Amino acid sequence: MSQNKPCPGGPGHVYLVGAGPGDPGLITVRGKQALQKSDVVLYDHLANPELLALAPDRAERIDVGKERGHPKLSQSEIENILIERASRGLTVVRLKGGDPFVFGRGGEEGLTLQKAGIPFTVIPGVTSVTAAPAYAGIPVSHRDTNSRIVIMTGHDDPESLDPATLDALTLGNQTLVILMGVEYFRKLSRKLLSHKMPPDTPVMMVRWGTTASQDTREGTLGTMEEILSSHPIRPPSLIVVGKVAGNQYRLNWQNNRPLFRKRILLTRETGTQDGLSEALTSAGAEVIHCPTIEILPPDNLSEVDKALESLHEYGWIVFLSPNGVRHFMRRLRDAGRDIRALASNRIFVMGPATHKAMSEFGVIPDGQPLESHGNGVLEFFHSQSVQNRKILLIRGDRGDGLIPDGLLSLGARVTTVRCYSNRIPCLPEYLRDRIAMHLEERSLDLLVFYSPSSYENLLSLFPEQADDIRHIPSLAIGPTTQAALLKDGATTVIVPGEPTESAVEETILNHFS
Ligand code: SAH
Repeated sequence: MSQNKPCPGGPGHVYLVGAGPGDPGLITVRGKQALQKSDVVLYDHLANPELLALAPDRAERIDVGKERGHPKLSQSEIENILIERASRGLTVVRLKGGDPFVFGRGGEEGLTLQKAGIPFTVIPGVTSVTAAPAYAGIPVSHRDTNSRIVIMTGHDDPESLDPATLDALTLGNQTLVILMGVEYFRKLSRKLLSHKMPPDTPVMMVRWGTTASQDTREGTLGTMEEILSSHPIRPPSLIVVGKVAGNQYRLNWQNNRPLFRKRILLTRETGTQDGLSEALTSAGAEVIHCPTIEILPPDNLSEVDKALESLHEYGWIVFLSPNGVRHFMRRLRDAGRDIRALASNRIFVMGPATHKAMSEFGVIPDGQPLESHGNGVLEFFHSQSVQNRKILLIRGDRGDGLIPDGLLSLGARVTTVRCYSNRIPCLPEYLRDRIAMHLEERSLDLLVFYSPSSYENLLSLFPEQADDIRHIPSLAIGPTTQAALLKDGATTVIVPGEPTESAVEETILNHFS
Protein backbone atom coordinates (compact mmCIF):
# COMPACT_ATOMS: atom_id res chain seq x y z
CA MET A 1 0.00 0.00 0.00
CA SER A 2 1.38 3.38 -0.92
CA GLN A 3 1.54 6.31 1.47
CA ASN A 4 -0.63 9.19 0.38
CA LYS A 5 -0.15 12.87 0.82
CA PRO A 6 -0.01 13.96 4.49
CA CYS A 7 -2.84 15.58 6.35
CA PRO A 8 -3.06 19.32 5.61
CA GLY A 9 -5.08 19.76 8.81
CA GLY A 10 -8.60 18.65 9.74
CA PRO A 11 -10.21 15.32 8.96
CA GLY A 12 -10.77 14.19 5.42
CA HIS A 13 -14.03 12.85 4.12
CA VAL A 14 -15.49 9.43 3.52
CA TYR A 15 -17.92 8.71 0.69
CA LEU A 16 -20.05 5.60 1.10
CA VAL A 17 -20.68 4.93 -2.55
CA GLY A 18 -22.97 2.42 -4.23
CA ALA A 19 -21.02 0.90 -7.12
CA GLY A 20 -24.13 -0.44 -8.81
CA PRO A 21 -24.76 -4.09 -9.55
CA GLY A 22 -21.80 -4.84 -11.83
CA ASP A 23 -22.30 -3.13 -15.18
CA PRO A 24 -19.90 -0.20 -14.71
CA GLY A 25 -22.30 2.07 -16.59
CA LEU A 26 -24.73 1.76 -13.69
CA ILE A 27 -22.70 3.82 -11.22
CA THR A 28 -24.33 7.17 -10.45
CA VAL A 29 -22.95 10.52 -11.64
CA ARG A 30 -22.17 11.43 -8.04
CA GLY A 31 -20.48 8.12 -7.38
CA LYS A 32 -18.25 8.72 -10.38
CA GLN A 33 -17.41 12.23 -9.21
CA ALA A 34 -16.44 10.95 -5.75
CA LEU A 35 -14.14 8.33 -7.31
CA GLN A 36 -12.53 10.94 -9.54
CA LYS A 37 -11.44 13.00 -6.57
CA SER A 38 -10.51 10.16 -4.22
CA ASP A 39 -7.14 9.56 -2.56
CA VAL A 40 -8.12 6.11 -1.32
CA VAL A 41 -10.66 3.55 -2.57
CA LEU A 42 -11.72 0.53 -0.52
CA TYR A 43 -13.53 -1.98 -2.68
CA ASP A 44 -14.62 -5.58 -2.66
CA HIS A 45 -14.98 -8.24 -5.31
CA LEU A 46 -18.33 -7.02 -6.62
CA ALA A 47 -16.78 -3.75 -7.84
CA ASN A 48 -15.87 -3.73 -11.53
CA PRO A 49 -12.23 -2.78 -12.27
CA GLU A 50 -13.43 -0.26 -14.84
CA LEU A 51 -14.81 1.73 -11.89
CA LEU A 52 -11.47 1.62 -10.08
CA ALA A 53 -9.89 3.15 -13.18
CA LEU A 54 -11.99 6.28 -12.52
CA ALA A 55 -9.89 7.11 -9.45
CA PRO A 56 -6.71 9.11 -10.08
CA ASP A 57 -3.63 6.99 -10.83
CA ARG A 58 -2.02 8.05 -7.58
CA ALA A 59 -5.01 6.89 -5.47
CA GLU A 60 -4.46 3.99 -3.12
CA ARG A 61 -6.76 1.09 -3.97
CA ILE A 62 -7.41 -1.38 -1.20
CA ASP A 63 -9.07 -4.68 -1.99
CA VAL A 64 -10.89 -5.53 1.21
CA GLY A 65 -12.53 -8.68 -0.10
CA LYS A 66 -9.54 -10.25 -1.74
CA GLU A 67 -9.96 -13.89 -2.55
CA ARG A 68 -6.93 -14.67 -4.68
CA GLY A 69 -4.16 -15.38 -2.22
CA HIS A 70 -4.98 -12.82 0.43
CA PRO A 71 -7.43 -13.02 3.29
CA LYS A 72 -10.49 -10.84 3.44
CA LEU A 73 -10.31 -7.91 5.83
CA SER A 74 -12.71 -8.06 8.75
CA GLN A 75 -15.42 -5.45 9.17
CA SER A 76 -13.54 -3.77 12.03
CA GLU A 77 -10.31 -3.70 10.01
CA ILE A 78 -12.17 -2.00 7.18
CA GLU A 79 -13.66 0.56 9.54
CA ASN A 80 -10.25 1.24 11.08
CA ILE A 81 -8.77 1.92 7.66
CA LEU A 82 -11.63 4.32 6.84
CA ILE A 83 -11.01 6.25 10.06
CA GLU A 84 -7.23 6.18 9.81
CA ARG A 85 -7.07 7.43 6.22
CA ALA A 86 -9.76 10.07 6.74
CA SER A 87 -8.00 11.29 9.90
CA ARG A 88 -4.99 11.95 7.73
CA GLY A 89 -7.06 14.41 5.72
CA LEU A 90 -7.61 12.10 2.79
CA THR A 91 -10.69 11.71 0.61
CA VAL A 92 -11.79 8.12 0.99
CA VAL A 93 -14.32 6.24 -1.15
CA ARG A 94 -15.86 3.12 0.30
CA LEU A 95 -17.15 1.48 -2.85
CA LYS A 96 -19.83 -1.10 -2.18
CA GLY A 97 -21.65 -3.36 -4.63
CA GLY A 98 -25.19 -2.27 -5.46
CA ASP A 99 -26.51 0.12 -2.83
CA PRO A 100 -24.47 0.58 0.38
CA PHE A 101 -27.47 0.02 2.63
CA VAL A 102 -29.02 -3.02 0.99
CA PHE A 103 -27.40 -5.77 3.02
CA GLY A 104 -24.08 -4.06 2.49
CA ARG A 105 -23.08 -3.12 6.04
CA GLY A 106 -23.04 0.52 5.00
CA GLY A 107 -25.16 1.37 8.02
CA GLU A 108 -22.53 0.01 10.41
CA GLU A 109 -19.76 1.89 8.66
CA GLY A 110 -21.78 5.12 8.75
CA LEU A 111 -22.40 4.79 12.49
CA THR A 112 -18.73 4.10 13.17
CA LEU A 113 -17.69 7.18 11.21
CA GLN A 114 -20.30 9.27 12.98
CA LYS A 115 -18.98 8.18 16.39
CA ALA A 116 -15.42 8.89 15.32
CA GLY A 117 -16.42 12.40 14.20
CA ILE A 118 -15.43 11.77 10.57
CA PRO A 119 -17.58 13.66 8.07
CA PHE A 120 -19.13 11.39 5.46
CA THR A 121 -21.48 11.48 2.49
CA VAL A 122 -23.77 8.71 1.32
CA ILE A 123 -24.15 8.14 -2.41
CA PRO A 124 -26.86 5.52 -2.97
CA GLY A 125 -26.43 3.03 -5.78
CA VAL A 126 -28.46 0.97 -8.22
CA THR A 127 -29.15 -2.18 -6.24
CA SER A 128 -28.88 -5.68 -7.66
CA VAL A 129 -32.32 -6.30 -6.13
CA THR A 130 -33.97 -4.58 -9.08
CA ALA A 131 -31.14 -4.40 -11.63
CA ALA A 132 -30.14 -8.07 -11.85
CA PRO A 133 -33.75 -9.19 -12.50
CA ALA A 134 -34.18 -6.29 -14.95
CA TYR A 135 -31.15 -7.41 -16.99
CA ALA A 136 -32.63 -10.91 -16.98
CA GLY A 137 -35.89 -9.46 -18.36
CA ILE A 138 -37.88 -9.45 -15.12
CA PRO A 139 -39.64 -6.34 -13.84
CA VAL A 140 -39.71 -6.82 -10.04
CA SER A 141 -43.22 -5.43 -9.96
CA HIS A 142 -46.08 -5.49 -12.39
CA ARG A 143 -49.54 -4.08 -11.77
CA ASP A 144 -51.15 -7.42 -12.55
CA THR A 145 -49.04 -9.51 -10.22
CA ASN A 146 -47.81 -7.85 -7.08
CA SER A 147 -48.33 -4.94 -4.79
CA ARG A 148 -45.37 -5.77 -2.57
CA ILE A 149 -41.69 -6.56 -3.04
CA VAL A 150 -40.07 -8.41 -0.15
CA ILE A 151 -36.29 -8.23 -0.04
CA MET A 152 -34.65 -10.76 2.22
CA THR A 153 -31.33 -12.49 2.74
CA GLY A 154 -31.06 -16.23 2.65
CA HIS A 155 -28.59 -16.14 5.49
CA ASP A 156 -31.15 -16.84 8.15
CA ASP A 157 -31.59 -20.55 8.47
CA PRO A 158 -35.03 -21.34 6.97
CA GLU A 159 -35.61 -23.78 9.86
CA SER A 160 -35.71 -20.80 12.20
CA LEU A 161 -38.49 -18.98 10.33
CA ASP A 162 -41.56 -18.77 12.55
CA PRO A 163 -45.08 -19.49 11.20
CA ALA A 164 -46.07 -15.81 11.14
CA THR A 165 -43.06 -14.97 8.96
CA LEU A 166 -43.81 -17.92 6.70
CA ASP A 167 -47.42 -16.73 6.40
CA ALA A 168 -46.15 -13.35 5.33
CA LEU A 169 -43.64 -14.78 2.85
CA THR A 170 -46.18 -17.01 1.15
CA LEU A 171 -48.78 -14.32 0.52
CA GLY A 172 -49.94 -14.34 -3.07
CA ASN A 173 -49.53 -10.91 -4.56
CA GLN A 174 -45.88 -10.26 -3.89
CA THR A 175 -42.41 -10.74 -5.30
CA LEU A 176 -39.70 -12.21 -3.09
CA VAL A 177 -36.15 -11.18 -3.88
CA ILE A 178 -33.69 -13.28 -1.94
CA LEU A 179 -30.04 -12.22 -1.67
CA MET A 180 -27.22 -14.51 -0.54
CA GLY A 181 -29.67 -17.38 -0.75
CA VAL A 182 -28.05 -19.97 -3.01
CA GLU A 183 -26.94 -22.18 -0.18
CA TYR A 184 -30.25 -22.17 1.68
CA PHE A 185 -32.62 -22.12 -1.23
CA ARG A 186 -33.36 -25.83 -1.17
CA LYS A 187 -34.43 -25.71 2.45
CA LEU A 188 -36.30 -22.44 1.97
CA SER A 189 -38.26 -23.67 -1.05
CA ARG A 190 -39.31 -26.81 0.84
CA LYS A 191 -40.46 -24.64 3.72
CA LEU A 192 -42.44 -22.35 1.42
CA LEU A 193 -44.02 -25.34 -0.35
CA SER A 194 -45.00 -26.97 2.91
CA HIS A 195 -46.56 -23.66 3.88
CA LYS A 196 -48.91 -23.87 0.86
CA MET A 197 -47.05 -21.67 -1.58
CA PRO A 198 -48.16 -23.02 -5.01
CA PRO A 199 -45.48 -25.25 -6.58
CA ASP A 200 -46.04 -23.56 -9.95
CA THR A 201 -44.85 -20.19 -8.56
CA PRO A 202 -42.20 -19.02 -11.06
CA VAL A 203 -38.60 -18.76 -9.84
CA MET A 204 -35.57 -17.21 -11.52
CA MET A 205 -32.01 -17.22 -10.22
CA VAL A 206 -29.60 -14.63 -11.59
CA ARG A 207 -25.86 -14.90 -11.08
CA TRP A 208 -23.53 -11.95 -11.71
CA GLY A 209 -26.52 -10.01 -13.06
CA THR A 210 -25.81 -7.05 -15.40
CA THR A 211 -22.26 -8.28 -16.12
CA ALA A 212 -20.86 -10.32 -18.99
CA SER A 213 -20.90 -13.31 -16.64
CA GLN A 214 -24.67 -13.12 -16.13
CA ASP A 215 -26.14 -16.57 -15.86
CA THR A 216 -29.67 -17.66 -15.02
CA ARG A 217 -31.70 -20.67 -13.94
CA GLU A 218 -35.39 -20.69 -14.50
CA GLY A 219 -38.10 -22.90 -13.11
CA THR A 220 -40.82 -23.03 -10.48
CA LEU A 221 -40.82 -23.54 -6.76
CA GLY A 222 -41.63 -27.18 -7.45
CA THR A 223 -38.94 -27.82 -10.10
CA MET A 224 -36.06 -25.61 -9.01
CA GLU A 225 -34.48 -28.10 -6.64
CA GLU A 226 -34.05 -30.62 -9.44
CA ILE A 227 -32.83 -27.97 -11.89
CA LEU A 228 -30.20 -26.81 -9.42
CA SER A 229 -28.99 -30.30 -8.67
CA SER A 230 -28.24 -30.91 -12.35
CA HIS A 231 -27.17 -27.30 -13.09
CA PRO A 232 -25.85 -25.79 -9.88
CA ILE A 233 -25.27 -22.07 -9.57
CA ARG A 234 -22.80 -20.27 -7.32
CA PRO A 235 -22.84 -16.90 -5.58
CA PRO A 236 -23.19 -14.03 -6.15
CA SER A 237 -26.72 -14.86 -7.20
CA LEU A 238 -30.13 -13.63 -6.27
CA ILE A 239 -33.45 -15.38 -6.49
CA VAL A 240 -36.75 -13.95 -7.66
CA VAL A 241 -39.86 -15.82 -6.56
CA GLY A 242 -43.25 -14.70 -7.83
CA LYS A 243 -45.44 -14.32 -10.89
CA VAL A 244 -43.21 -11.60 -12.37
CA ALA A 245 -40.59 -14.29 -12.95
CA GLY A 246 -43.02 -16.10 -15.25
CA ASN A 247 -42.51 -16.19 -18.98
CA GLN A 248 -45.55 -14.10 -19.84
CA TYR A 249 -44.00 -11.04 -18.17
CA ARG A 250 -40.53 -11.51 -19.65
CA LEU A 251 -39.01 -8.47 -21.36
CA ASN A 252 -36.64 -9.62 -24.08
CA TRP A 253 -34.81 -6.31 -24.31
CA GLN A 254 -31.36 -7.90 -24.28
CA ASN A 255 -32.11 -9.10 -27.82
CA ASN A 256 -31.49 -5.49 -28.84
CA ARG A 257 -27.99 -5.65 -27.42
CA PRO A 258 -26.23 -8.26 -29.56
CA LEU A 259 -23.02 -8.16 -27.50
CA PHE A 260 -24.64 -8.65 -24.08
CA ARG A 261 -22.73 -11.21 -22.01
CA LYS A 262 -19.63 -10.75 -24.16
CA ARG A 263 -16.49 -9.53 -22.42
CA ILE A 264 -14.00 -7.87 -24.74
CA LEU A 265 -10.45 -6.81 -23.89
CA LEU A 266 -9.09 -3.76 -25.70
CA THR A 267 -5.31 -3.47 -25.62
CA ARG A 268 -4.76 -0.06 -27.15
CA GLU A 269 -3.07 2.69 -25.22
CA THR A 270 -5.29 4.79 -22.93
CA GLY A 271 -7.35 7.48 -24.60
CA THR A 272 -7.25 6.08 -28.15
CA GLN A 273 -10.13 3.62 -28.14
CA ASP A 274 -13.01 5.63 -26.78
CA GLY A 275 -15.15 5.49 -29.92
CA LEU A 276 -14.89 1.72 -30.26
CA SER A 277 -15.32 1.17 -26.56
CA GLU A 278 -18.51 3.22 -26.57
CA ALA A 279 -19.91 1.42 -29.60
CA LEU A 280 -19.23 -2.01 -28.09
CA THR A 281 -20.67 -1.00 -24.73
CA SER A 282 -23.86 0.30 -26.24
CA ALA A 283 -24.23 -3.01 -28.10
CA GLY A 284 -24.18 -4.61 -24.62
CA ALA A 285 -20.55 -5.76 -24.30
CA GLU A 286 -18.52 -5.48 -21.15
CA VAL A 287 -15.28 -3.81 -22.20
CA ILE A 288 -12.07 -4.13 -20.24
CA HIS A 289 -9.27 -1.72 -21.04
CA CYS A 290 -5.83 -3.21 -20.74
CA PRO A 291 -3.31 -0.88 -22.34
CA THR A 292 -0.38 -3.07 -23.36
CA ILE A 293 1.58 -0.25 -24.95
CA GLU A 294 2.70 2.99 -23.45
CA ILE A 295 3.94 5.58 -25.91
CA LEU A 296 6.73 7.84 -24.70
CA PRO A 297 9.02 10.36 -26.37
CA PRO A 298 12.19 8.69 -27.67
CA ASP A 299 15.20 8.41 -25.38
CA ASN A 300 17.17 10.51 -27.78
CA LEU A 301 15.62 13.46 -29.62
CA SER A 302 18.68 14.33 -31.69
CA GLU A 303 17.58 12.12 -34.64
CA VAL A 304 14.28 13.93 -35.02
CA ASP A 305 15.82 17.36 -34.39
CA LYS A 306 18.39 16.77 -37.09
CA ALA A 307 15.64 15.78 -39.55
CA LEU A 308 13.62 18.87 -38.66
CA GLU A 309 16.58 21.08 -39.59
CA SER A 310 16.86 19.59 -43.06
CA LEU A 311 13.21 19.03 -44.01
CA HIS A 312 13.56 20.85 -47.35
CA GLU A 313 15.93 18.09 -48.55
CA TYR A 314 13.26 15.38 -48.49
CA GLY A 315 10.91 14.66 -51.37
CA TRP A 316 8.57 12.57 -49.23
CA ILE A 317 7.91 12.31 -45.53
CA VAL A 318 6.37 8.94 -44.71
CA PHE A 319 4.32 8.57 -41.53
CA LEU A 320 3.56 5.00 -40.50
CA SER A 321 1.37 5.61 -37.43
CA PRO A 322 -0.77 8.26 -35.72
CA ASN A 323 1.77 8.33 -32.87
CA GLY A 324 4.50 9.14 -35.37
CA VAL A 325 2.44 12.07 -36.64
CA ARG A 326 1.71 13.41 -33.17
CA HIS A 327 5.23 13.11 -31.82
CA PHE A 328 6.80 14.59 -34.97
CA MET A 329 4.38 17.52 -35.04
CA ARG A 330 4.82 18.14 -31.32
CA ARG A 331 8.58 18.35 -31.72
CA LEU A 332 8.14 20.70 -34.68
CA ARG A 333 5.98 22.95 -32.53
CA ASP A 334 8.48 22.77 -29.64
CA ALA A 335 11.06 24.07 -32.10
CA GLY A 336 8.81 27.09 -32.64
CA ARG A 337 7.68 26.04 -36.14
CA ASP A 338 4.40 24.94 -37.72
CA ILE A 339 3.01 23.15 -40.80
CA ARG A 340 4.54 25.76 -43.12
CA ALA A 341 7.83 23.95 -42.46
CA LEU A 342 6.37 21.04 -44.49
CA ALA A 343 5.40 23.21 -47.47
CA SER A 344 7.98 21.69 -49.81
CA ASN A 345 7.44 18.05 -48.79
CA ARG A 346 5.02 15.50 -50.10
CA ILE A 347 3.32 13.70 -47.24
CA PHE A 348 2.52 9.98 -47.21
CA VAL A 349 0.48 8.31 -44.46
CA MET A 350 -0.16 4.63 -43.80
CA GLY A 351 -3.72 3.79 -42.85
CA PRO A 352 -6.91 5.74 -42.08
CA ALA A 353 -5.94 6.50 -38.46
CA THR A 354 -2.63 8.05 -39.54
CA HIS A 355 -4.50 10.00 -42.22
CA LYS A 356 -6.90 11.32 -39.60
CA ALA A 357 -4.06 12.29 -37.25
CA MET A 358 -2.36 14.28 -40.03
CA SER A 359 -5.62 15.95 -41.08
CA GLU A 360 -6.09 17.11 -37.51
CA PHE A 361 -2.99 19.27 -38.01
CA GLY A 362 -4.55 20.76 -41.14
CA VAL A 363 -2.38 18.77 -43.53
CA ILE A 364 -4.03 16.79 -46.32
CA PRO A 365 -1.70 13.90 -47.22
CA ASP A 366 -0.51 13.46 -50.81
CA GLY A 367 -0.39 9.70 -50.72
CA GLN A 368 -1.59 6.62 -48.91
CA PRO A 369 -1.37 2.92 -49.71
CA LEU A 370 -4.25 0.96 -51.19
CA GLU A 371 -3.76 -1.56 -48.41
CA SER A 372 -2.48 -0.56 -44.97
CA HIS A 373 0.52 -2.80 -44.59
CA GLY A 374 4.21 -2.70 -45.41
CA ASN A 375 3.82 -4.13 -48.91
CA GLY A 376 1.05 -1.67 -49.63
CA VAL A 377 3.49 1.15 -48.87
CA LEU A 378 6.11 -0.32 -51.21
CA GLU A 379 3.54 -0.82 -53.99
CA PHE A 380 2.66 2.86 -53.75
CA PHE A 381 6.27 4.01 -54.03
CA HIS A 382 6.89 1.56 -56.84
CA SER A 383 4.60 3.72 -58.96
CA GLN A 384 6.43 6.93 -58.00
CA SER A 385 9.88 7.80 -59.29
CA VAL A 386 11.89 7.73 -56.10
CA GLN A 387 15.25 6.88 -57.65
CA ASN A 388 17.81 8.97 -55.77
CA ARG A 389 15.07 10.92 -53.98
CA LYS A 390 15.39 11.41 -50.25
CA ILE A 391 12.61 9.94 -48.11
CA LEU A 392 12.16 10.65 -44.43
CA LEU A 393 10.56 7.72 -42.62
CA ILE A 394 8.84 8.56 -39.33
CA ARG A 395 8.10 5.64 -37.03
CA GLY A 396 8.43 4.26 -33.51
CA ASP A 397 11.31 2.25 -32.13
CA ARG A 398 9.71 -1.15 -32.85
CA GLY A 399 9.30 -1.42 -36.63
CA ASP A 400 11.07 -4.00 -38.79
CA GLY A 401 13.17 -3.46 -41.91
CA LEU A 402 10.51 -4.27 -44.53
CA ILE A 403 9.67 -0.68 -45.50
CA PRO A 404 13.13 0.98 -45.28
CA ASP A 405 14.81 -1.93 -47.09
CA GLY A 406 12.08 -1.99 -49.73
CA LEU A 407 12.43 1.75 -50.35
CA LEU A 408 16.21 1.40 -50.58
CA SER A 409 15.80 -1.30 -53.20
CA LEU A 410 13.67 1.13 -55.22
CA GLY A 411 16.71 3.39 -55.29
CA ALA A 412 15.51 5.90 -52.69
CA ARG A 413 17.78 7.41 -50.03
CA VAL A 414 16.01 6.68 -46.78
CA THR A 415 16.47 8.34 -43.41
CA THR A 416 14.60 6.57 -40.62
CA VAL A 417 13.69 8.61 -37.55
CA ARG A 418 12.36 7.01 -34.40
CA CYS A 419 9.99 9.62 -33.08
CA TYR A 420 8.59 7.75 -30.11
CA SER A 421 9.20 4.62 -28.14
CA ASN A 422 6.87 1.77 -27.23
CA ARG A 423 7.05 0.51 -23.69
CA ILE A 424 5.22 -2.17 -21.82
CA PRO A 425 3.22 -0.29 -19.19
CA CYS A 426 3.19 -1.21 -15.55
CA LEU A 427 -0.38 -2.37 -14.91
CA PRO A 428 -1.95 -1.49 -11.58
CA GLU A 429 -2.41 -4.54 -9.37
CA TYR A 430 -6.21 -4.43 -9.36
CA LEU A 431 -6.28 -4.57 -13.13
CA ARG A 432 -3.57 -7.19 -13.43
CA ASP A 433 -5.36 -9.49 -10.95
CA ARG A 434 -8.72 -9.13 -12.64
CA ILE A 435 -7.39 -9.72 -16.14
CA ALA A 436 -5.28 -12.70 -15.03
CA MET A 437 -8.43 -14.21 -13.54
CA HIS A 438 -10.47 -13.66 -16.70
CA LEU A 439 -7.68 -15.11 -18.86
CA GLU A 440 -7.38 -18.20 -16.68
CA GLU A 441 -11.13 -18.72 -16.58
CA ARG A 442 -11.22 -17.92 -20.30
CA SER A 443 -14.09 -15.63 -19.44
CA LEU A 444 -12.97 -13.13 -22.07
CA ASP A 445 -14.73 -13.61 -25.40
CA LEU A 446 -12.41 -11.54 -27.58
CA LEU A 447 -9.02 -9.83 -27.38
CA VAL A 448 -8.44 -6.87 -29.71
CA PHE A 449 -4.92 -6.13 -30.97
CA TYR A 450 -3.78 -3.12 -32.93
CA SER A 451 -0.21 -4.16 -33.64
CA PRO A 452 2.10 -7.13 -33.24
CA SER A 453 3.61 -5.44 -30.18
CA SER A 454 0.23 -5.04 -28.48
CA TYR A 455 -0.01 -8.85 -28.66
CA GLU A 456 3.59 -9.56 -27.68
CA ASN A 457 3.29 -7.18 -24.74
CA LEU A 458 0.14 -8.89 -23.45
CA LEU A 459 2.10 -12.15 -23.47
CA SER A 460 4.93 -10.45 -21.55
CA LEU A 461 2.51 -8.99 -19.03
CA PHE A 462 0.79 -12.34 -18.45
CA PRO A 463 3.42 -15.04 -19.08
CA GLU A 464 1.58 -17.60 -16.97
CA GLN A 465 -1.57 -17.14 -19.01
CA ALA A 466 0.15 -17.25 -22.43
CA ASP A 467 -1.65 -20.40 -23.39
CA ASP A 468 -5.01 -18.91 -22.47
CA ILE A 469 -4.20 -15.82 -24.54
CA ARG A 470 -3.52 -18.01 -27.58
CA HIS A 471 -6.81 -19.87 -27.14
CA ILE A 472 -9.16 -16.93 -26.67
CA PRO A 473 -10.41 -15.60 -30.04
CA SER A 474 -8.61 -12.45 -31.16
CA LEU A 475 -9.19 -9.61 -33.56
CA ALA A 476 -6.09 -8.35 -35.37
CA ILE A 477 -6.30 -4.89 -36.92
CA GLY A 478 -4.67 -5.96 -40.19
CA PRO A 479 -2.65 -8.65 -41.99
CA THR A 480 0.67 -7.80 -40.30
CA THR A 481 -0.80 -8.19 -36.83
CA GLN A 482 -2.74 -11.26 -37.94
CA ALA A 483 0.45 -12.90 -39.24
CA ALA A 484 2.24 -12.21 -35.95
CA LEU A 485 -0.58 -13.82 -33.95
CA LEU A 486 -0.86 -16.87 -36.18
CA LYS A 487 2.90 -17.38 -36.16
CA ASP A 488 2.80 -17.46 -32.38
CA GLY A 489 0.04 -20.07 -32.38
CA ALA A 490 -3.11 -18.02 -31.78
CA THR A 491 -5.99 -20.30 -32.66
CA THR A 492 -8.76 -17.97 -33.84
CA VAL A 493 -7.93 -14.61 -35.42
CA ILE A 494 -10.49 -12.41 -37.15
CA VAL A 495 -9.49 -9.37 -39.24
CA PRO A 496 -11.63 -6.39 -40.29
CA GLY A 497 -11.83 -5.51 -43.98
CA GLU A 498 -10.09 -2.22 -43.25
CA PRO A 499 -8.38 -0.84 -40.17
CA THR A 500 -11.10 1.60 -39.13
CA GLU A 501 -13.14 1.77 -35.94
CA SER A 502 -16.41 1.14 -37.78
CA ALA A 503 -14.99 -1.88 -39.64
CA VAL A 504 -13.68 -3.29 -36.34
CA GLU A 505 -17.10 -2.84 -34.76
CA GLU A 506 -18.84 -4.51 -37.70
CA THR A 507 -16.40 -7.43 -37.66
CA ILE A 508 -16.99 -7.96 -33.94
CA LEU A 509 -20.77 -7.85 -34.39
CA ASN A 510 -20.56 -10.39 -37.22
CA HIS A 511 -18.25 -12.61 -35.22
CA PHE A 512 -20.78 -12.90 -32.40
CA SER A 513 -23.94 -12.97 -34.52
N1 SAH B 1 -25.60 -4.02 -1.54
C1 SAH B 1 -25.80 -5.01 -2.55
C2 SAH B 1 -26.13 -6.37 -1.98
C3 SAH B 1 -25.01 -6.88 -1.11
S1 SAH B 1 -25.32 -8.47 -0.47
C4 SAH B 1 -26.86 -4.54 -3.52
O1 SAH B 1 -27.54 -3.54 -3.28
O2 SAH B 1 -26.99 -5.14 -4.58
C5 SAH B 1 -24.52 -9.47 -1.67
C6 SAH B 1 -25.53 -10.28 -2.42
O3 SAH B 1 -26.22 -9.46 -3.33
C7 SAH B 1 -24.98 -11.39 -3.25
O4 SAH B 1 -24.71 -12.54 -2.51
C8 SAH B 1 -26.12 -11.63 -4.22
O5 SAH B 1 -27.17 -12.31 -3.61
C9 SAH B 1 -26.58 -10.22 -4.46
N2 SAH B 1 -25.93 -9.61 -5.61
C10 SAH B 1 -25.11 -8.56 -5.64
N3 SAH B 1 -24.74 -8.26 -6.90
C11 SAH B 1 -25.35 -9.17 -7.68
C12 SAH B 1 -25.39 -9.40 -9.08
N4 SAH B 1 -24.70 -8.64 -9.92
N5 SAH B 1 -26.16 -10.41 -9.54
C13 SAH B 1 -26.85 -11.20 -8.71
N6 SAH B 1 -26.86 -11.03 -7.39
C14 SAH B 1 -26.12 -10.02 -6.87
